[in-house]
Amino acid sequence: MNPILKKYIRSEDLKQLVSIGMLFPGGIGLLWAVLYWRNDIQFAIGTILIHVICGAALGLCIAGLANTLKITINLSSLVCFLLAVFWVSPILLFGIENHYMNIEVSIKGLFITATAVFGVSLFGLIGGYFLEQFKRITKLFFAIVFIVIVPVYFALTFPGEFNSNITIVNRLNEGEVKTQPQKRIMVFGIDGGTWDVIFPLLKQGKLPNLKSLMENGQYGILNSIETSGGHTISPALWTSIFTGKSPEKHGLVDWIGSDSRNRFSKALWNILNDYGQKTLTVNIPGTFPPEKITGVQISGFPIPGIVKSSKSSISGIAFGRLYTTESRDLQVLPVTKIGIRPAEKWFSTPSSYYPLYESLLPLTENIEMRYDAFRFGAYSLQLGNLFLKLLDRWEIFETEQQYAIFPMLIADTTNDSTDNYDTLYIFLNKNDSSPVAVLKEGQWSDWIRLGIKRAEAQFKLRLLSLSKDHLEIYTTPLFQSSFFPQIPYTYPINFSSELSKKIGQYVVEGAGWTMFVDEVTLDLLYEHLEDIATQHIRASEYLLRTIPDWGLFIHIFTESDRIQHAYWKYFQPAYYQFVDENLAKLHGDKINSIIEKIDASIGEFLTYMDENTTVIVLSDHGFQAEPRSNYGHHNLKGMYIFSGKNVKNSHGLLHLDSASLPEASILDITPTILYLMGYPVGTDMDGEVLLNIFDEEKLECYPVAFIDSYESNFLKKKRAKQTIDEATKDQLKSLGYIQ
Ligand SMILES: [Zn+2]
Repeated sequence: MNPILKKYIRSEDLKQLVSIGMLFPGGIGLLWAVLYWRNDIQFAIGTILIHVICGAALGLCIAGLANTLKITINLSSLVCFLLAVFWVSPILLFGIENHYMNIEVSIKGLFITATAVFGVSLFGLIGGYFLEQFKRITKLFFAIVFIVIVPVYFALTFPGEFNSNITIVNRLNEGEVKTQPQKRIMVFGIDGGTWDVIFPLLKQGKLPNLKSLMENGQYGILNSIETSGGHTISPALWTSIFTGKSPEKHGLVDWIGSDSRNRFSKALWNILNDYGQKTLTVNIPGTFPPEKITGVQISGFPIPGIVKSSKSSISGIAFGRLYTTESRDLQVLPVTKIGIRPAEKWFSTPSSYYPLYESLLPLTENIEMRYDAFRFGAYSLQLGNLFLKLLDRWEIFETEQQYAIFPMLIADTTNDSTDNYDTLYIFLNKNDSSPVAVLKEGQWSDWIRLGIKRAEAQFKLRLLSLSKDHLEIYTTPLFQSSFFPQIPYTYPINFSSELSKKIGQYVVEGAGWTMFVDEVTLDLLYEHLEDIATQHIRASEYLLRTIPDWGLFIHIFTESDRIQHAYWKYFQPAYYQFVDENLAKLHGDKINSIIEKIDASIGEFLTYMDENTTVIVLSDHGFQAEPRSNYGHHNLKGMYIFSGKNVKNSHGLLHLDSASLPEASILDITPTILYLMGYPVGTDMDGEVLLNIFDEEKLECYPVAFIDSYESNFLKKKRAKQTIDEATKDQLKSLGYIQ
């Protein structure tokens, strides 16, 4: 034995170490293994191994402590102590893991743990006894296995495809056929969707997909509800839609508390998961952080960004920035002045018919580093969140200013004997021969990935105007990379990386819509939001294509809300004072365009509908002109469409007049979906089943069944309120939601 170690640890204690090291992983490790074995064997084995290492470390600590305190470790008392710890651990573990606590699961967990503890205790005792008989060389072998091979194994496999759903996706790609559920529901949410926009478009013969759903189904007005202070807060409303409960009951009541950890009620996906249904949810406001579900969850806003902006001299994080050679005084968008001069000291340059000019694009942001917390979170989402919360509370994360200075060249690429500079080349540095972007006036770059310390960010830019003495560029905010996100926003956690490899970048929320205030941004705001909406649509399409055995699919289009806020003034100029006629002409069609784009996407998604699918299109609230505020504003008159399996057919008779439409409440959606799927409705839900939309015959087949509640009374939630962080607040400010 090493003489230094010998001084601190007695050899008889060290012998006990092996037993302790094997005992500790027993409870938690085996519990995890039992729970995950069927889904992912690699995950189960990995979990046991990491607990073995933790156990050895703990054993070493206990042995050292015992020696310092001059007490002798009594193995049997230690076993009793560990038994006691493991006896209560499932309650703790499940309390942390499942914030929608379920008594059956807890009792099952208790039995599994108890069995595991007895089994592993026995194994530990026998194992410890035999190890003591071994020769030194055998002990050395075990030491090498644990100290060298195990960490190497982890380093090689992490952050590999650890999670069960990714494995499922891969298996499906290999051609495994899964049977589809008998009944399934497809939900398309149009945030802020209103008949006032949709009906006129339908009358013009547009929106063919919504039209066909309406012609073959039922539609009406979906009344929204007021959240705290008379507001209509989207995350709270979508949570009401998918719990069937009022904000006071489900817990998300305001912007600051718009965090899924504040939800006390089970959501539709939790309930359907309990019935064995797989759920896919994309971009539902109020679902960050993502929950452990059966299926895939991609969280919706508000989601923290990586850029820290509070109390910083560099503002405009959630807007992006304008780089210009002119003096610009903008209200919202921050401006950086840049210069132009003849190009010098370039290693190699693109060809130009007139002498090249150069400029610099200095990108600086304060980045919050939380990468390690994310890695920890990959083992257990809820533990990761807990860890993040503690780091936030104690402010244990690095904030670092990151610089990236892009040299740029201005070239004349047309051979017409005039000096019309028309092309901008953007490089990482002056020695590079290949640019990261080549742009003509009005063009957007692709997404540019930018390595920042221990992580990655992404942004794109648009060349607004260019000549040899004038240059104007807009850069989007710096978003966290979806290839290597610091803050997990999907479940399974590594799904965001998987998704990015397959479909490209995924940005969770675009720049703040209040940037419409500055005229220079009117075009690019729409294009930027549309680009991000396209990423979300591609993500959903990927999910539908690769995971066919879902029971519930939800995609929320939030771009409709952002664009209606920003462009309503030009859509209905008559309601506002002083609307520039030219601007109204240029931007009056933006709202119609985005609704048409949403209709086209729904059309694409509908190719995954079958005869067992019921399709629901709905909004969380409506929209109207708000002359005093100069932008569009929420109202309580939203819209719904039900179509497909079990829904009464309108046989093409459309009444495009909102005055004569049937009405329903956003609280009716969850009870109605449960009824459609053949499951009982919770009597503690605030809404009702919309029986009038169903076929009479189907009504007799399935009378509405009730269950007291899907909630468990066990471990009644009395948790501390989660509040969103500074970066998220900045995002909400830029969206105009909080002051
Ligand atoms: Zn809104």
